[in-house]
Formats: sequence, C-alpha cells, structure tokens
Amino acid sequence: MKMKKSSIATRAIHGKKLYPYKGPVATPIYQTSTYRFENSNDAVRYAQGDPSVYVYSRYHNPSVEDVEEKLAALYDADASVLFSSGMAAISTAILSIVKAGDEIISTPMLYGGTYRFFRDVLPLFNVSVKYVDGKQLSDLSMLVTPRTKLFYCESPTNPTVELIDLYRAIAEVKRAGKKSGARIRTMIDNTFASCLHQAPFDIGFDIVVESATKYIGGHSDLLAGAVIGTKIDMKQVRQIAKYLGGCADPFAAFLLSRSLKTFELRVQKQTENAMALARVLEKQKNVLRVLYPGLTSHPQHAIAKKQMSGFGAMVLIEVKGGVQGAAMVCDSLNVAVNAMSLGGVETLVSIPVYSSHINMSESELKQHGVTPGMIRISVGVEGIDDLISDFLQAIKKL
Ligand SMILES: *Cc1c(COP(=O)(O)O)cnc(C)c1O
Repeated sequence: MKMKKSSIATRAIHGKKLYPYKGPVATPIYQTSTYRFENSNDAVRYAQGDPSVYVYSRYHNPSVEDVEEKLAALYDADASVLFSSGMAAISTAILSIVKAGDEIISTPMLYGGTYRFFRDVLPLFNVSVKYVDGKQLSDLSMLVTPRTKLFYCESPTNPTVELIDLYRAIAEVKRAGKKSGARIRTMIDNTFASCLHQAPFDIGFDIVVESATKYIGGHSDLLAGAVIGTKIDMKQVRQIAKYLGGCADPFAAFLLSRSLKTFELRVQKQTENAMALARVLEKQKNVLRVLYPGLTSHPQHAIAKKQMSGFGAMVLIEVKGGVQGAAMVCDSLNVAVNAMSLGGVETLVSIPVYSSHINMSESELKQHGVTPGMIRISVGVEGIDDLISDFLQAIKKL
C-alpha cells in the first residue's frame, strides 16, 4: 500500500506497518540502554551500516524508531529523528546546517526558547541571525549574503497567532538565493498547525521541526521533539544528535505512539472547539481583540485558507485592563487551566508577558506584537458549552 494514499489518521495509527506486518499491535517499550550482540562481528556489521544491528540507545532504539517512522509517514517525508524535547530537535537541526561564520535569516515571531537560542547562544559560536519582518518578506533580498545558510520561520506564530505567507517566503528565498549565489535551506517550526493542518514540504520547505510535547503528545504528560526531512538531511541531523545527546527516551516514545492513535480525532475536535470559542469571544465587549486564523476578521484569513487545511486550536485574545485584566480572567477560570504549554486535551491559558515573553524589553515586545492584556488560549477537547460558559463568567468579572 502506498503511504500517500492513506489518511492522516491511518498513517498515525499504523505507520508503515500495514498488512502483511505480523507482530504486537501496541509498540513494545524497549527500555534498554544497550543491546546484546550475537557475536563480536555484530559491531563490525553495525559500523558498516547494517540497520538490523542495534548497539546503543543514544544511537537508535526500536520504540523510538516506531515513532520516527510514523512521523515521517504523517509528513509524507523520507525520515525523521525523534528528540527528548522540541528545543533539542530545533537546536540540533540548526547546528546540523550552520557553522561558524554562517548567517540565518528568520522572522522575529518565534517560540521564546528558539528566540533566546538565536539571541543568546548562536552568537557564541559566531553564527548570526538577521530578522525579516514576516509582513515584509521582500526585504529578504537585502539581508541575504553569500554566507546565508538558512531561512527559519514559524507559522502560525507564537503567541500572536499571526501567519507568515509561506508560499511567498519560499519564493523570496529562492529569488534572493539566485541573486547572491547562496544555497539557502528552509526550515519551519510546524508545532502550532501540526501536520493535520499544514504540509510544509508541499509548500517547498526542506526541513520541518516540531515540539511533539504539544499536539503529537497531546496529553500534557511528556516532552519530545522531532525533525523531519529527506534521508540525506536526516542522516546529518542524526550524526549531530549522536554527540549532542538529546535522544528520545523509549517510554516517551511509547506514549507518543499511543497518542498518535487519537491524533486526528483530538486535533480535529480541538480545532472545532477553537472556532466556536473564538466566535463567542469576538462578541464580548470586554474582549478588545480575538486573533484566530479561522475568523474572517483575522487580518490574514486569506493566507490561512491558502496554506492551511484547517485553522488549528490556538486562539489569542486581548482583554480590557492590561495585565491585571488578563490575570483576573486567567485566575477566574474553572474549566480552563492556567498553565504554560499547549496542545493537550485540556484547555490551557497563559499570559505571554508573564510566560514566553517575560523579561523582554519594550522594543522586543513591540517587535513581537505582544501587549500586556493578551491571553493565549490552547483549546482542548472539553465540552464546548462548558468552555464557553467558563470564559464568559471569567470575562464578566473585568
Ligand atoms: C513548545 C514549543 C517549542 C519547544 O518545545 P519543547 O518540547 O518545550 O522543548 C518550540 N516551538 C514551539 C512553537 C513550541 O510551542
């Protein structure tokens, strides 16, 4: 059976193990650090690249490989590498591409950890990051030099749920690369949309990174990350991963494999709930702004329709009363949980200026479009009527 023909749900449940595969239905947990050799020649066979020989779980582990195969199938890609967290995946993927003296061009609206990695860590290794406004992608050609190795972005963005026009970004990168002679790779963090709603390889991206802690895990009970791409790129990522050591743990892999069985059901329901909640919140006078790509009021709704097959389950609202107002709403919720992170079956709320964007300067907040009254909502799978009444009673208190 050709993987391309089967649905996301089928691929998430079965990976490539369709008929006539014989074996356990649930992925066993290979909770082992090392593997017994049949004889000493196994070490030689491993060194020669024999995939049937296992040697050490930082290099490979069957439970981890099961998830890697499923994620590759979900993205219709050659391969993927699973990591202990999204940040391990992102940092390793980037370090597999850049070296001292190289430059990265990125949009500034990024997950806080990625932004700080770019700002505080990469310069220590003489890798610089230049920012291009996601709404002014034509500026890219002015920023590209022969040392530019990577274009990086996130869409929808964290926490403002704005969009980068991904087709436009790819076209601008190609144009700028041709002009400068630089070979620029393209990488996207697909965490917010997930593979259910956005297929970056079809748009032209080379590498996808994702925090599997979020929608793939989906139950707020594990940390994991993934890099997905071509065989050649993933070979390089795996090589660097071996020495940076951010390998995934077999038990987390088991949980991920279990989570993937309900991936489509969960994210579909979360998306439906998000749309319904966003529509109600938009009508409340104490809510100054609702940003959700599925609303026709979203300034980039047309871009969302072009590049996404669904609108996801992240909603941003701005309430009256600044950060005190936002805190009052978050502290008054009974169903939604006031906690960081996103993507789980439970609705989570967080205040960006108290979490991802804490300790950022006024100008950084402005660059990121973050204001004190903002609340980021990761919509879960609870009954929609319970969610709506919970938010309405909390917002009434303003
Ligand atoms: C959470 C998150 C990350 C980091 O993932 P971890 O699993 O927490 O390391 C990266 N990008 C985005 C968009 C995220 O939401």
